[in-house]
Amino acid sequence: MRVRVDPERCQGHGVCVVTAPALFDFQDDGKAVAAARELEVADLDGARAAEASCPELAIAIEGKLRTA
Ligand code: SF4
Repeated sequence: MRVRVDPERCQGHGVCVVTAPALFDFQDDGKAVAAARELEVADLDGARAAEASCPELAIAIEGKLRTA
């Protein structure tokens, strides 16, 4: 399971960066980028909150949670 930002939709509001700073950061172009790693259980609340709060609907959570 990963979280992704659609760069075509992202307008750089930064809601995701504030909501889940462990998962999102700004790129040099001012748009957000999501952590390039598999999500862990501890990431889920932040990822879902960011997905729900993005005003551009630019965030998607994809795949299934990988369990050990
Ligand atoms: S909240 Fe959405 S539009 Fe704003 S920076 Fe994050 S991904 Fe981009």
